[in-house]
Amino acid sequence: MLPFKLVYSEKYYLPIGQHIFRADKYRLIREWLLREHVADESDFIAPEPATDSEVMLVHSPHYVNKLMEGALSAREELQMEIPYSSQVVDAFLLHTGGSILAAERALEDRVSINLGGGFHHAFPEHGEGFCMIHDFAVAIRVLQSRDRIGRAMTVDCDVHQGNGTAVIFGGSSRAPGTLPSAAAPPSRETVSQSAAKDVFTISLHQEHNYPYTKPPSSIDVNLPDGCGDAEYLAWLDNALSSGLRQFEPDLICYVAGADPFREDQLGGLGLTIEGLKQRDELVFRAALARNIPVMVTYAGGYANRVEDTVAIHCNTVLAAAEVFDAAAARG
Ligand SMILES: [Zn+2]
Repeated sequence: MLPFKLVYSEKYYLPIGQHIFRADKYRLIREWLLREHVADESDFIAPEPATDSEVMLVHSPHYVNKLMEGALSAREELQMEIPYSSQVVDAFLLHTGGSILAAERALEDRVSINLGGGFHHAFPEHGEGFCMIHDFAVAIRVLQSRDRIGRAMTVDCDVHQGNGTAVIFGGSSRAPGTLPSAAAPPSRETVSQSAAKDVFTISLHQEHNYPYTKPPSSIDVNLPDGCGDAEYLAWLDNALSSGLRQFEPDLICYVAGADPFREDQLGGLGLTIEGLKQRDELVFRAALARNIPVMVTYAGGYANRVEDTVAIHCNTVLAAAEVFDAAAARG
């Protein structure tokens, strides 16, 4: 039995037909975890769908009504890059409920993983890039409205920049990150500006990739094409240390995208499966060392072989088990 909960529903499947976004990955992840005895049935908990009023803590009533009534324009549907149906809306509401539940459980158990979610390209007024509802932004706003947390930090390691997250929570005026050799410590002004925010956003992503307009996060790290494990891990360590020096969150939302993988069809970074597991461990150790609860969402993953996407996502569970089990053993 795991020392934390995995949030999952068989209704996470998105009925979007033949698509580069393999919406059956959620089921395959669960099956792998059970087959390999990483998890047993009692480790899984099922979410309730997020309510309209919860979703409207982030999205405009106008947009939510269009989703509910099937009133998106053809252009809006095209921008989403997945076909609209009420079943797809229901699935996004369930992923969002899953992120709310994972955030709540993280406060109890130090960590919790939503085996879904991570829809960081959803904006208050529109969806894009396979993302209809910004599940973890809603989760943050719901927990704040319940007085469960005050401040949160998002750590987005999907290969694509978290543009929706950046807009929803507003960025600081800090310049985007540059290559490690040119890295400079944050200025004092950045510290005070960031401290005034209630959500601090970090995004590590490939610079030359979607989205081509990147609204500023609190910290953006624009990585070069082909960036490998060592360079990536150094950048992540740097961004986490810098962010956690400037800002003390009550919750970390870790977006554990599988698409920085070197064989991803929509990514151009060079990480290995082992490097991605080290990435997960780095985030979990940073959270644990500071006693900050961490909730995880999965976001993208479009490897040539779906088994690789599944392995990368399952490794996130293994990494959490190793880091938090070891901590439990130490008491
Ligand atoms: Zn992505």
